[in-house]
Amino acid sequence: MLEHNTSGGSQEIGQSVDFKSYCRDVLDFPKQGIIFRDITNLLKNGPVFMMAIDAMALPYKDTMVDAVVAIEARGFIIGAALAYRLGCGLVPVRKQGKLPWQVYQAAYDLEYGQDHLEVHQDAVVPGQRVLIVDDVIATGGTAAAVIRLIKEMRGKIVGAAFLAELTALNGTEKLLGIPVFSLIKY
Ligand code: AMP
Repeated sequence: MLEHNTSGGSQEIGQSVDFKSYCRDVLDFPKQGIIFRDITNLLKNGPVFMMAIDAMALPYKDTMVDAVVAIEARGFIIGAALAYRLGCGLVPVRKQGKLPWQVYQAAYDLEYGQDHLEVHQDAVVPGQRVLIVDDVIATGGTAAAVIRLIKEMRGKIVGAAFLAELTALNGTEKLLGIPVFSLIKY
């Protein structure tokens, strides 16, 4: 069932895979009251990881995407694989102070206080078509900050893709009508 189909048929197989069953719920991590959706068991299973990426790429097969904009840190894992699958570039959005060149910066809310995300100012040129990618969308605050960064660079956002969405938190409402694809919904 989980065999790697080298003819490119893994999307078909992927439709019958219960991806959620490869994610682990970790209670009270990183703090009391949070259910952490741990994707490491999905990632370590080669055929399942491949089918997950294929299934995430499928909605964009007829969409022109110049670059995946991936969010540190787990977003890099999903984003890099998806960019390879789509044959497009990868733009890293990083935590404050990690990127070496001139950056744009956007604040986003943490439970207590704020943090900042940064992107190189020349990462996206005006009019380029980008897809935002992260592992999980929860409140949507992180992805909303990335939207502000892309708008500053005058990129065109064609969508946002997540391995998992925590639907009860209504995070997609913060994404200003951008089309969202989530492989797994909680
Ligand atoms: P948010 O800004 O609230 O949408 O949070 C999204 C970011 O926080 C993503 O980069 C996720 O990796 C991480 N995150 C938030 N909540 C969870 C959770 N319950 N399980 C795993 N990761 C989470």
